[in-house]
Amino acid sequence: MKKIPSFSKDHDKLLPGLYKCGESHGVATWDLRFKKPNAGDYIAQPALHTTEHVLATVLRNGRFADGIIYFGPMGCRTGFYLLTCGIADGDVAPMLKEALKEALKFSEIPGSRREECGNCAEHDLEGAKRECAAYLAVLENA
Ligand SMILES: [Zn+2]
Repeated sequence: MKKIPSFSKDHDKLLPGLYKCGESHGVATWDLRFKKPNAGDYIAQPALHTTEHVLATVLRNGRFADGIIYFGPMGCRTGFYLLTCGIADGDVAPMLKEALKEALKFSEIPGSRREECGNCAEHDLEGAKRECAAYLAVLENA
């Protein structure tokens, strides 16, 4: 089988940051890398799960809501993928900084009731906020 593009980049050289992976059919794929790969520090599963709920909610309610196709966690727990359509490249980092600041204000986890989520016991809002604050610092220092 063909090696897919996300496996083709050298993960040993990848640092926390925001990367555009490519664009096809008008949809851009963004790598929101929260952690340095293979460095022993990963987003804990409950925080990863809650970050997914919170950021997906914020992004889909923000001013670029119509351009958000998908937001979800990487299985390796070092970051998230964001798929966008019709959002200028230069708007993505400012949009994410706004979203991360909004995420820090949450006191309840959206969509975390039993009937709304596939693993409603596995959440960590404080952990998610720590990850969001750390990633916000990465983007602000970029
Ligand atoms: Zn869930």
